[in-house]
Amino acid sequence: MNKVSIQCRNICLGYGATEVLKNLSLDIHPGEFFALLGPSGSGKSSLLRLIAGFNHHQSGQLFIDGKEVSGQAPWERQVGMVFQSYALWPHLSVWDNVAFGLVERKVERDILKSKVSAILSQVELLDLAYRKPSQLSGGQQQRVALARTLVVEPKVLLLDEPLSNLDKTLRIQMRQELLSLQRRLGITTIFVTHDQEEAMSTADRMAVLEKGVVQQVGSPEDLYHSPANSFVANFVGTMNVVSVSELNQSHANWSALQSDNQGEIASKFLSFRPHDAQLVAAESMPTSVLKEPMQTWLPGIVLSAEFMGHATRYKVRMSDIEIFVDQSHGPEKTKWHPNDRVSIGLKPAQVRWLY
Ligand code: ADP
Ligand code: MG
Repeated sequence: MNKVSIQCRNICLGYGATEVLKNLSLDIHPGEFFALLGPSGSGKSSLLRLIAGFNHHQSGQLFIDGKEVSGQAPWERQVGMVFQSYALWPHLSVWDNVAFGLVERKVERDILKSKVSAILSQVELLDLAYRKPSQLSGGQQQRVALARTLVVEPKVLLLDEPLSNLDKTLRIQMRQELLSLQRRLGITTIFVTHDQEEAMSTADRMAVLEKGVVQQVGSPEDLYHSPANSFVANFVGTMNVVSVSELNQSHANWSALQSDNQGEIASKFLSFRPHDAQLVAAESMPTSVLKEPMQTWLPGIVLSAEFMGHATRYKVRMSDIEIFVDQSHGPEKTKWHPNDRVSIGLKPAQVRWLY
């Protein structure tokens, strides 16, 4: 199959006076599984509808397979879109729902039959082809919607929160099925979600969108380990983000965490992942400091503990700031309780400075 790219160049889109996408530029590579992650209202659906041709931008350019498609109608773009609601025909069988697009295109009977059965077997629904949508589970309906979109062989697959109507176990299973189907077909795919775990566990690359502005684009690892700003840091995994002015007010001896890089001192936020900090009893601090001269210790009080299976997440108050610290379990590990006085240990390599 011919794998195609998608390019958005300086796209602005608004509804009336409301600006929704602001000078948005994005490159989706041929054949990749690209996740678009952002909170509700950030413009994710608007962007997908724009690529599909249901929305029109006021300025900028949109290329699919290297060709400007801004003037093209949806059916000319060969873009398939799956909606969160599935939008299946309730009175038609699975087979007829899937065949619908081919009937509309007046595809010859034998070809139609072989295409519908091929795609239904890809999504493992051939045995249920005679059923009506109401006789299917949520996950099966989702697969019908997917088959109906794929049967007309689009060049691009757009998925708008396709799993959000499913329960958690099914969602995890379906996202892996989606990914393996995408890999088999090699179709360039944009997967919209507001669930960071869903994005990170599937995407080759991903973008974080906030208020119609792309905050960062990269691999899930890039975004997790090197978030570009405090929005991305908070949205992709749990991150403690503490402003330098709050730290100054807390009188904590945090300045040792700064490296010699002068630029970092002007940064506004210190951030660290919950599992990167260490907790020790407040009184045992001096010896620990001797052992680890590079470690900085900040005083804190445990507020609460949440058992998470592989670790316990402690909410700790550091002066007026609340942070999370995850500690793994083990026979030698101390368990902390509310009101315990602790020292929070951080090394320069474990913190990032954000703007
Ligand atoms: P998301 O999919 O990330 O939740 P949307 O693209 O649906 O975000 O919406 C982005 C913003 O645009 C929201 O503030 C929403 O209210 C607004 N919006 C979406 N569609 C329309 C529309 N047809 N008319 C006016 N405003 C809209
Ligand atoms: Mg949406």
